[in-house]
Amino acid sequence: MKYTPHSKDQTPFSPREGQRSEPKQIAILGSTGSIGTQALQVIAAHPDRFAARVLTANNRWELLAEQARQFMPAAVVIANENYYPALRDSLADLPIAVYAGADALCQVVEGTEVDIVLTAMVGFAGLPPTIAAIKAGKPIALANKETMVVAGELINGLCRKYQVPILPVDSEHSAIFQSIMGEVSPIERIILTASGGPFRTFTREQLETVTPAMALKHPNWDMGAKITIDSASMMNKGFEVIEAKWLFGVEPDRIQVVVHPQSVVHSAVQFADGAVKAQLGVPDMRVPIQLAFSFPERLHSDFDRLDWFTMHDLTFERPDTERFRCLALAYESLQQGGNMPCIVNAANEIVNRAFLEGRCRFLEMADIIERTMQRATFIKQPSYEDYLETDKEARRIAAQLLQS
Ligand code: NDP
Ligand code: MG
Repeated sequence: MKYTPHSKDQTPFSPREGQRSEPKQIAILGSTGSIGTQALQVIAAHPDRFAARVLTANNRWELLAEQARQFMPAAVVIANENYYPALRDSLADLPIAVYAGADALCQVVEGTEVDIVLTAMVGFAGLPPTIAAIKAGKPIALANKETMVVAGELINGLCRKYQVPILPVDSEHSAIFQSIMGEVSPIERIILTASGGPFRTFTREQLETVTPAMALKHPNWDMGAKITIDSASMMNKGFEVIEAKWLFGVEPDRIQVVVHPQSVVHSAVQFADGAVKAQLGVPDMRVPIQLAFSFPERLHSDFDRLDWFTMHDLTFERPDTERFRCLALAYESLQQGGNMPCIVNAANEIVNRAFLEGRCRFLEMADIIERTMQRATFIKQPSYEDYLETDKEARRIAAQLLQS
C-alpha cells in the first residue's frame, strides 16, 4: 500500500495553505544524514530566514520524528515503507502529513509552498526526486553529486527548460561558484582541491590490507559512510570532476585535481590573465549549505574563523592515479561520455557497500568498476529511461563480478 501525497484525501500542504510566511521554505531530502542534520542547524540558527517545509529519510524514522517535532514541517516522508506505521503513529498528535515510498519523495518536492530543495540523499536514488523538483520549477541546493555524475547533461537540459538554478553545496563546487561570482569572463582552469583522504601517503602494498574502519577515519571532514569511503578511494574526487564539468561547463582537461591535505583552500579558478581566485575557510559544510540557502546574500554565522597565524603549512601535491585508480576511471568515463559515468556510479555503489561490509578489498573496488565499464551496454545519448536501465544493469554486473 502506498501513502503518497497524491493519495485521495491527503493534502500535504493544506496545514499552512494561504498563510505563506516570510522564511524561505526548504525541503530537505535526506534530513537525517550528515548534510541534512547540518542543514537543520543552519535553519535553526536563522528561524526568521529559513523554515523546514519537508523532511525525509530512508530508514531512521525515529530521528526523522524527532526532527519533525522540533521543526514542524508540513510533511515528512520515510522512503522505506516498512517504517510508515511507526512514523505515522509517533507524529499522530501533530498537524504533519506523513508519507512513505520513493514516489512520495518526488511528489512532496512539487508542493507550491516549497521554495528550495536540498538534495542530501545519497546515491542514484537522488536522481528521480531531483528531476521532479526541477520540473516543478524549484531551485536546487545540490549536495547529491551522484545526480550530476549519472545524468549531468540531462539535468542541465531540464534546468534550462524549466529555468531552474542549481546552487552547489559540495564544498569544492561552492568554492568555484564563489570564485566566479561577479566574473563575466570564462574560466581558463578549475583547480579542484582534494584532501587525499586517510590513505594519501600509503603505498600500494599498504592499500592491499586497509580496512573499512581505517577508511572511515577521514582526516578533515565528518561525513556519511558512503562518501567517506569514496574519499578514501578518491572516487569522490573523480565524481567531483564530473560534477564540475556539468555545473560550470568546463572540459575535464581544464579541471586539475590538486591534493591539499589541510582542506583550507576549498578550490580555485584561474582566468585568462593568469589570475587565480580561491575560496578558503575552516572545513565546515554548514558554510556552503547556508550560502546555497541565502544566495545571493551572506548571513552571519558563529562558525569557526580561519586563524591565519596557525596555518604554517598549506601544501599542494599532484594526485597519484596509479594508487588511486578510481580517479583515473572517472576521468575516463567522462572521456567516453554517454551513460559511462552512470555505469561507473552504479558499480561504485556496489563495491563501496561491499567494501564497507568486508566483502571486497580496497584495491579490488577499482578492478570491478573497470570491468563493469567494459561489460555494460554503452549508450551514446541516453534518455532518462536508459539511465534507469543502465543503473540496474551495471549493478547486476558489478555484483556478479564481486561474487566470482
Ligand atoms: P548520509 O549517509 O549521512 O545521509 C544520507 C541521507 O539520505 C539520510 O537522510 C538517509 O536516510 C537518506 N537516504 C539514503 N538512501 C536513501 C534512499 N534510497 N531513499 C531515500 N533516502 C535515502 O550522507 P551524506 O549526508 O554524507 O551525503 C548526502 C549527499 O551529499 C551524498 O550525495 C554526498 O555525496 C553529498 N555530499 C556530502 C558531504 C558531506 O560532508 N557529508 C559533502 C559533499 C557532498 P537514513 O538516515 O534514514 O538512512
Ligand atoms: Mg566535496
